Amino acid sequence: MTAPGADPSLGDLSRAELGELLDGEPAYRLDQVWDGLYRQRRPLSELTNVPKSLRQAIGELLPPALTLVRTQSADRGTTTKHLWSLRDGHLVESVLMRYRNRTTLCISSQAGCAMACSFCATGQVGFDRNLSVGEIVEQVLGTLQETGSNDRSASGGAINIVFMGMGEPLANYEAVWAAVERFHGDMGIGARHITVSTVGVIPGIERLAAAAQPVNLAVSLHAANDRLRNRIAPINRTYPLRDLARSLADYRRAKRRRISFEWAMIGGVNDTDRDAAELAAYARPLAAHVNLIPLNPTPGYGHEPSPAGRIEHFAAELSSHGVNATVRQNRGTSIDAACGQLRADKLVSIGRHGRGARARAER
Ligand code: SAH
Repeated sequence: MTAPGADPSLGDLSRAELGELLDGEPAYRLDQVWDGLYRQRRPLSELTNVPKSLRQAIGELLPPALTLVRTQSADRGTTTKHLWSLRDGHLVESVLMRYRNRTTLCISSQAGCAMACSFCATGQVGFDRNLSVGEIVEQVLGTLQETGSNDRSASGGAINIVFMGMGEPLANYEAVWAAVERFHGDMGIGARHITVSTVGVIPGIERLAAAAQPVNLAVSLHAANDRLRNRIAPINRTYPLRDLARSLADYRRAKRRRISFEWAMIGGVNDTDRDAAELAAYARPLAAHVNLIPLNPTPGYGHEPSPAGRIEHFAAELSSHGVNATVRQNRGTSIDAACGQLRADKLVSIGRHGRGARARAER
């Protein structure tokens, strides 16, 4: 339920678990606290219909999992990145993106990542640990509260949650799924507004196919032949393309949800007509939609994004092969908040060495 060795945070507890804790209180107290936290999405301290002494007792027993370290904005204030410190000093990031009629929240599922995709900043720094349910859920609550987006009219439409921050969600299945249930069952965010993005961890895809909620599934493909994919996304050596396709076909059948492929456009690496033809042959039988993301620069990867003209041409090639593709707008590049740029744990070594950490990190 929680991070190894850690005391639980408020976000770790299910409704039933909080109910046990409130045993002895009038029954309506649980409703008040739960609705306040998850329907109204307000901090515990603001739930003034609950006696202050009780709020304090809960807060002491279940202190927050996350402390906000830094907020950065880009794209004229429509993109906001939050850097959170976990109790053990690890850092994770979440990104909120406002669009005209929706708000998308990109959250992390692990501190670091073990998948080691060559072009991804998180992959370049390696794996620290899985996040707990509370550490995932509190990213959403904290971000909505910090940005004043917990009210639908302020957010200008539906809230979407995407597991496209740091980490591989299907390598932390239990906590990710408990968080999905919280978003869905308690916060009222529909499964079609929740997207799990995976590099292709087949056992996790199989579990998703058997799960109760039909969430959207995004697969970070980037290459449609094993030779290239083994290099770009080494997990492909364990879960090769052919097996992956089979599990995706099963997912589609079970959940009746459109699958999407993410494809970072890397100049001279995966952006030729031949790459487009291979991708189309892979995507078409799965009726998958393709999102093309211009490669975002990361410190440990020498390649450049494909030129804009090449990306347009690639999309047109896919279309001529009967596959729909969207070129993704780049958000948050200037504050390293774009896809694959999250590498908060570069600050951990500083954070572990005392009090000056925060000031230094902010420079
Ligand atoms: N581990 C999960 C989710 C995190 S990555 C996954 O692999 O899907 C979120 C998305 O950003 C993935 O599609 C990933 O491949 C992409 N990405 C990673 N690094 C990137 C980069 N430098 N430029 C563009 N996209 C990148």
